[in-house]
Amino acid sequence: NSAKTTQQDMRFKYQTNWKRPLGEGAFGTVYLSKNRITKEVVAMKKIPKQLTDNASFQNEVNALVRVRNNGGHPYICGMKEIFEDKKYYYMVLDLVSGGEMFEHLITLGAYSEADASRLVKEVSAALSFLHGTGIVHGDLKPENLMLSTQRKEDSTVKLVDFGCAQISTDSGLILSKASAGNTPAYCPPEVLENPKAPITPAMDVWGLGIILYIMLTGLHPFDLNGNATDDQIERLIKQRQAPPLRNSPITAHMSDSAIDVIEKCIKWDPKERITAMELLEHPWVRGITASEETIA
Ligand code: ADP
Ligand code: MG
Repeated sequence: NSAKTTQQDMRFKYQTNWKRPLGEGAFGTVYLSKNRITKEVVAMKKIPKQLTDNASFQNEVNALVRVRNNGGHPYICGMKEIFEDKKYYYMVLDLVSGGEMFEHLITLGAYSEADASRLVKEVSAALSFLHGTGIVHGDLKPENLMLSTQRKEDSTVKLVDFGCAQISTDSGLILSKASAGNTPAYCPPEVLENPKAPITPAMDVWGLGIILYIMLTGLHPFDLNGNATDDQIERLIKQRQAPPLRNSPITAHMSDSAIDVIEKCIKWDPKERITAMELLEHPWVRGITASEETIA
């Protein structure tokens, strides 16, 4: 496990700009920081102990340590070390400098299919790695999908925020506070219906399907007017009120193949959902257009 040290050690080793955060979530705030010795620029995530308990923090750390012990992954933000003091936990992370996909989505309105396909491919690769090592991310959403650099040409996805992650052991899933803290708008029906049940990899795939719909339309499939409350979205998902995927003006511009990916990700029954590994094989995710497919 990571070495736990004190706040003095942290302040001695890292110079952090506490004035201007890089990003903020429901629990943590992330700041730009520099290792005084190596001069490496990093991200410092600070989590008030008031907002979390030791078990949740340990869970997040365990997930990131397992990622590291499995060699890390190019599309997952790595963790370097942790500190704590009386009031806060601190996590030193690789700096991700391209911003949240969320912000890009707002600027762009929607993504082209080519760009969305590349993002889905990268997220699927990250999920495939995680699921293969017994980790479910549990909080996939545009705020937690970051981009490695500002320049679009060489930027890749970096998955952040393992605060809701589930880690399996040899004896099965660790049942920590399963879905506490994550976002209803990206939660599948089985999780909304039974927040205490162990979450499975199919949860992440559902979230990715919702994200893809949003990327291609700029709209949430369960909130097409953009003004629903979390409760209203939750009710629609629990009632299994299918969003319009075919014969709808909202999706009319999408290719059949893109719609097929979304359909396979947001199956009501988690057992029927496509897996991250299978997503990597899907022609749309591989970037094969319909005409090329018929030739092949
Ligand atoms: P929370 O658990 O509170 O949601 P996150 O881990 O998601 O906290 O971090 C909050 C925000 O900080 C993210 O949405 C993102 O904007 C930013 N952020 C997270 N990790 C990094 C990082 N490694 N580098 C730069 N910014 C980051
Ligand atoms: Mg977050």
